[in-house]
Amino acid sequence: MVAKLIDGKAIAEKQRALLIPEVSRFANAVGRPPGIAVVRVGEDPASKTYVASKKRTAQALGLNSWEHALPEHTKQAELLGLIARLNEDACVDGILVQLPLPKHLDAHEVLRAISPGKDIDGFHPVNAGSLFQGVPTLVPCTPLGVMKMLEEMGYSVAGKRAVVIGRSNIVGRPMAALLLNASATVVLCHSKSDVKAEALRADIVISAVGTAGLVKADWVREGAVVVDVGMNRDAAGKLCGDVVFEEVREKAGWITPVPGGVGPMTIAMLMYNTVQAAKLRHEGQGERG
Ligand code: NAP
Repeated sequence: MVAKLIDGKAIAEKQRALLIPEVSRFANAVGRPPGIAVVRVGEDPASKTYVASKKRTAQALGLNSWEHALPEHTKQAELLGLIARLNEDACVDGILVQLPLPKHLDAHEVLRAISPGKDIDGFHPVNAGSLFQGVPTLVPCTPLGVMKMLEEMGYSVAGKRAVVIGRSNIVGRPMAALLLNASATVVLCHSKSDVKAEALRADIVISAVGTAGLVKADWVREGAVVVDVGMNRDAAGKLCGDVVFEEVREKAGWITPVPGGVGPMTIAMLMYNTVQAAKLRHEGQGERG
């Protein structure tokens, strides 16, 4: 069997296109488009690239976007002061703080300071708690993107056995919660798990570890759906995932490539969350900060 490719680029494009009329409807109703504020601290080149790409996507969809680029030596209190102002700003629907922050800053405190209704990354404990209680509002973008991909394939996870490899707050844990909420039977693996044994029993394997070459063909059941969230560099410096793609595609039923798989979905879902946050705030509370 040669796996069908799950084309994240095409699915992300479709998801972005679906947002354009929603943005217009919101702008007509409220008198302004949804707005996203992106906060970046320091000069990390990868962060600059990610922020530029988020801004470009936001502009292409007709969203308002603001970048707050703060110097490396910014103090915690200054950063918290900016978050407080953005929380109060009625034109800002979504706030994103680009990670990683410089080491002297406490990222946990910063992320908790974002108003849960504007937390478009879905990292705030209130949003994480809602997700785990089965009543999600704003959900972390990468796992949300994986769910949209599965939906787009017409694949129902209900009753399926799903193995998630990696238990970070950004990917693995919310991924497991979303699958559970959609009635999959979920196994959440980490560095102490017998991952191969678990993966071999799975209908769906989602790897979010950050180790190239981790998931090999003898870890995967014939016909399984394999989603590769990993973003690594191989020995030649080329972008690759956690899955040995050429080998696993001979056995899987469906597979995501890297690049062109989960990656493009993440920014699309950030835009989706911004529009959802705008609608929720407007419908739920009126134009408050
Ligand atoms: P992370 O915080 O470093 O978490 C990695 C997880 O993998 C941990 O839970 C760790 O287990 C587990 N792990 C490590 N070695 C393992 C092994 N041999 N077997 C099983 N589990 C193992 O990473 P992350 O932030 O979730 O990111 C994971 C990967 O996804 C990275 O490559 C990252 O670049 C990528 N990513 C991609 C996107 C995208 O848009 N495509 C978005 C976010 C992240 P312990 O908890 O036991 O240590």
